Amino acid sequence: MKIKVRLPFIGAAMVSAFVGLTPLFASAGEVNVYSYRKPKLIDPMFEVFTEQTGIKVNSVFAKKGMLERLESEGANSPADLVFTVDIGRLSDIKNAGLTQSVNGKRFADDIPENFRDPEGHWFGLTTRARIIAASKDRVKPDEILSYEDLADPMWKGRICTRSGKHPYMTALIASMIAQHGEPAAKEWLMGVKSNLARKPQGNDRAQVKAISEGVCDLAVINHYYMAKMLKDPEQVPWAESVNVIFPNQADRGTHMNVSGMALTKHAPNKDDALKLMAFLASDQGQEMYVQKNGEYPVKAGIPWSDLQNSWGPFKEDSLGLSVIADNRAAAVRLADEVGYND
Ligand code: FE
Repeated sequence: MKIKVRLPFIGAAMVSAFVGLTPLFASAGEVNVYSYRKPKLIDPMFEVFTEQTGIKVNSVFAKKGMLERLESEGANSPADLVFTVDIGRLSDIKNAGLTQSVNGKRFADDIPENFRDPEGHWFGLTTRARIIAASKDRVKPDEILSYEDLADPMWKGRICTRSGKHPYMTALIASMIAQHGEPAAKEWLMGVKSNLARKPQGNDRAQVKAISEGVCDLAVINHYYMAKMLKDPEQVPWAESVNVIFPNQADRGTHMNVSGMALTKHAPNKDDALKLMAFLASDQGQEMYVQKNGEYPVKAGIPWSDLQNSWGPFKEDSLGLSVIADNRAAAVRLADEVGYND
């Protein structure tokens, strides 16, 4: 018998933040997921999991407000798992005391240490490289080799990025703080800001579009947007106007972030949720993420997509994501201090 879980009153604005809200049920053979990831990115994996196990996955997609919702639901929350992109949201949910550790589970041990919480409260499922997209026409190969190069005055008026406070930019700035210390990272960010071709705006793909239109010559984007653009006829010319550069190959490697998941503190369907976690971390789950979403597998030994193979292997920054999480607040402050978005 299914029992409908009553949502606590959390205000119309909060409820409307949840797109496609459906009733959630806490009964045997089901897992309830709160997701910041778009349904089309994770539903195919859930479908295969259900086929193989008979366990149903109910997911609720939210653009924001997930942490607040988990907090307001407390021990009565129907949520078993939380799916997010970016280390920031994962660590925020952990720091709010809303998760539990899965340390000791074999699937967790398979995830490289730098892509999981040392205490086991979250781990990455896929990784994404923050690459530099460079105009094929206006940037010579080897002219730009590192994030540090982005601050070189030779790029004055030639760089486009999204908001300096977007989580993807925050994580990159946090990695610069971890690498160089805050004063040097601030100087770097001021340099990048002074090289911007326009006020930060739009998403990652909009920056590549701007390169194709001649607005700028360099952009900083997550790698999988190249795969997405190449699948959309309107956007193919954007993607084809740029070369993909994996920064910092001569030293620490390219900055990486994750999409990941966490087991909620009060997960009512914990056993089945653990099975779903194990499935997504399995070779089959990892291969689906690569082929369907263009993301990199978090585990070694999983075959890459043709596009990924065309770019070839690259050196990843091995900096632990928990270190990046620790530097996020400072990164947001630096973006403010240099007026990055002004
Ligand atoms: Fe993204």
